[in-house]
Amino acid sequence: LSNATDAMNTGPCHTHDGIEITLYGNVGLSADLDQVLRRGLAGVGLFRTEFLYLQSKRRPDAEAQRRLYAKMSKQLGDRPLVIRTFDLGGDKLPPFLSLDDNVDSSNLSLRGLRFSLAERHLLRAQLTAIIAVAQEADVRILFPMVIGGDDFARAIAMVDEIAEECNALKRPQIGAMIETPAALFCLDEIFELADFVAIGTNDLTQYLLAADRELSAESEQVTAMHPAVLRAIHQVVVAARRWNCPVCVCGEEASEVDFAELLIGLGVRELSISASRSGKLRAAISRVDSTAACALAQRAQECHSPQEVRSLWSAECRGTH
Ligand code: PEP
Ligand code: MG
Repeated sequence: LSNATDAMNTGPCHTHDGIEITLYGNVGLSADLDQVLRRGLAGVGLFRTEFLYLQSKRRPDAEAQRRLYAKMSKQLGDRPLVIRTFDLGGDKLPPFLSLDDNVDSSNLSLRGLRFSLAERHLLRAQLTAIIAVAQEADVRILFPMVIGGDDFARAIAMVDEIAEECNALKRPQIGAMIETPAALFCLDEIFELADFVAIGTNDLTQYLLAADRELSAESEQVTAMHPAVLRAIHQVVVAARRWNCPVCVCGEEASEVDFAELLIGLGVRELSISASRSGKLRAAISRVDSTAACALAQRAQECHSPQEVRSLWSAECRGTH
């Protein structure tokens, strides 16, 4: 990249009318972190830790995780590293999980936080590692597939218990992923406990529309552009404002220009994206007028289908994109 392009492609990102949109990166494997650093993103908004172990025959141990999180966070300097605890179960079943672990590959099986609370030794090792690194760095904990105040509270209690055992002086910030329909109906209980939340549009779309997330490649109906998903996101943003709690959107579609623009219109100010898409997204965001995006998002929520939302977007934004 030339210096001029560098300047345009790094640093804070603003809409045309000066609203700051913070862009974080999604990280699965270490190459993704290089991209986050090269593209000058504001930190890691979603580290999908289970990706590291999907082929592993051995259970991840706390010390190896501590070293990895410390190294990543050192590379990020003072930028945050949001570590999502293992989101295992469903389609993510590493070899070290034997049949005794009571898991199967259905998307409605024991998974996410529910899995972690049933198999506490894995979560315990991971939290021990995160808490150790958090004493000196901005690493944060994000729990996947939270379904309400109870599972979230039990997970937080584990963090507190481990922090006390380790004589930790600092407790890392703790967030919940909003990606199940249940969480939408328990927003106040969750916000009461959360330091931040992250909306996972991949799973939220899958579970709201009762359609496997793999279908989204094939069906025009199965998309985060569905008005039901847009209304759900808006509800989360409104509740987050009431609780004065940061909210980030981190599903794949947040990296798409049209959807990102709708998100800004819905009031979202933080996106966690595939770093490789950040150049195009920055350029598009710099052309967005937030008042117009807000009006567009309002009308999009009133549409009856994703196709209608798309046509609306194309009609409104043809001139600017
Ligand atoms: C999501 O569900 O949108 C999400 C970001 O998490 P994952 O894709 O890892 O399930
Ligand atoms: Mg998810």
